[in-house]
Amino acid sequence: MAAARRMVVVGGDAAGMTAASQARRLLGPDELEVVAFERGAFSSYSACGIPYWIGGDVSDRDDLIARTPGKHRERGIDLRMHTEVTRLDTDRRRVLARELAPGERQSTTEYWTDYDHLVLATGARPVRPPLPGVDAEGVHGVQSLEDGQNLLDAIDRTAAPGGEGKRSPAGPQGAEPRLKAVVVGAGYIGVEMAEALVRREFEVTVLDRSPQPMTTLDPDMGELVHESMCGMGMEVVTGAAVTGIETGDDGRARAVVTKESTYPADVVVLGLGVAPETSLAQEAGLPLGGSGGLLTDLAMRVRGQENIWAGGDCVEVLDLISGRTRHIPLGTHANKHGQVIGANIGGGYATFPGVVGTAVSKVCDLEIARTGLLEAQAREVGLRFVTVTAEATSRAGYFPGSRPMRVKMLAERGTGRLLGTQIVGREGAGKRVDIAAVALTAGMTVEQMTYLDLGYAPPFSPVWDPVLVAARKATAAVKSAG
Ligand SMILES: Cc1cc2nc3c(=O)[nH]c(=O)nc-3n(C[C@H](O)[C@H](O)[C@H](O)COP(=O)(O)OP(=O)(O)OC[C@H]3O[C@@H](n4cnc5c(N)ncnc54)[C@H](O)[C@@H]3O)c2cc1C
Repeated sequence: MAAARRMVVVGGDAAGMTAASQARRLLGPDELEVVAFERGAFSSYSACGIPYWIGGDVSDRDDLIARTPGKHRERGIDLRMHTEVTRLDTDRRRVLARELAPGERQSTTEYWTDYDHLVLATGARPVRPPLPGVDAEGVHGVQSLEDGQNLLDAIDRTAAPGGEGKRSPAGPQGAEPRLKAVVVGAGYIGVEMAEALVRREFEVTVLDRSPQPMTTLDPDMGELVHESMCGMGMEVVTGAAVTGIETGDDGRARAVVTKESTYPADVVVLGLGVAPETSLAQEAGLPLGGSGGLLTDLAMRVRGQENIWAGGDCVEVLDLISGRTRHIPLGTHANKHGQVIGANIGGGYATFPGVVGTAVSKVCDLEIARTGLLEAQAREVGLRFVTVTAEATSRAGYFPGSRPMRVKMLAERGTGRLLGTQIVGREGAGKRVDIAAVALTAGMTVEQMTYLDLGYAPPFSPVWDPVLVAARKATAAVKSAG
């Protein structure tokens, strides 16, 4: 018996397959047919794990796959791999799909599929500026598992005895020469990849055109990251705008060129951020925000559309602190969006309230975290604020293994409402940002935060947790600012 309705999903990763699975859980096959299209070779995979797979923490690519296409099909989802949706016909409620042979971009097998509900979960595409040599062999992105596999293969080929790599000359003490990797872009993916390549024993240079790495932090906090990365033996060059990739006679990348210098490279990794993948939506005339991400309501329904839903990296999210929509492409949001969409299509009711802008990452043993607004973001929306920084330790100062961290806090002038927190430090620093994320969500003032009943014992924190130390300082700053 045919199902009463059909849900069509475009994109077979976090947002799309979470939506499909949730709807499937709520409605049986006689009530809802679920068809999902994925143009790649993998479903429900963790791109977040790619740097750790490249770096060797995760040994097997398949460990990054949460659910294979076969498992989805066993659960009643008709997941069609290597199949790209090339057009949306919203008037007639149907999508045009094209089957691709693995590794091919062209195919003649095309067909229309009707939908009652359409879910757009097309993710994001990596930024690749049109620079000379940017598509040369040896220049790698790290957006998908295919990208990760290509990079790992290239690393193995380059490092193999007699391989493609040109080792630096031996050091003065005859030290073993090392292969060179250049990472372009010092956002969180760039710094995570820098660590992975250090662990693969490359000599690593990171280039970024900004004044400091990690522009998701204020520059003064980014400077700490910069210093620490240099201390880890990486070369970090800021204010470095890349003008092209130099290639050898064999067409392979040999060096990354900036206005000021040339950086020899056996491997080049691009970490220049991503843009929402919304070309289909744009052609169909669906509403897009300033970043090009789809605009949705709180139920994750595309604005103005009764039966089209969107989630994950292809949408803009509501920033609860600034009140603006922004493109914040994170897996943590994509999974929640999928859950909300699936619940709504499955006959329930759910909303995604928005985000406070929390993110955490690391480079070697340095943990980097932020939530809420940066100074520039707070200024942009006209907020007046005070900032404080507190130096504290991860455990009681006398307890073995206690490590320093810096906490920066922004609070609104007058009201004392917490606006943002950034933390940079060693073990135990990063996830402390969650305290501030909860306080932001609850709309707490820094004074209220001061008395939060957090757990304390010497191996876990000083008696005043570093976040509370910052909150105390911020409370005093708000009072003295009047
Ligand atoms: C290296 C790396 C590290 C990361 N680390 C973190 C982290 O630590 N924490 C965090 O929260 N987030 C992290 N992220 C981000 C996270 O991976 C993404 O936010 C998440 O994958 C988004 O899920 P999505 O389903 O929206 O999009 P995607 O995962 O991009 O999936 C979209 C899918 O749609 C498919 N598709 C697109 N267009 C079509 C079409 N027309 N037809 C058929 N299929 C199509 C694509 O092939 C793709 O598989 C990281 C990302 C990367 C690349």
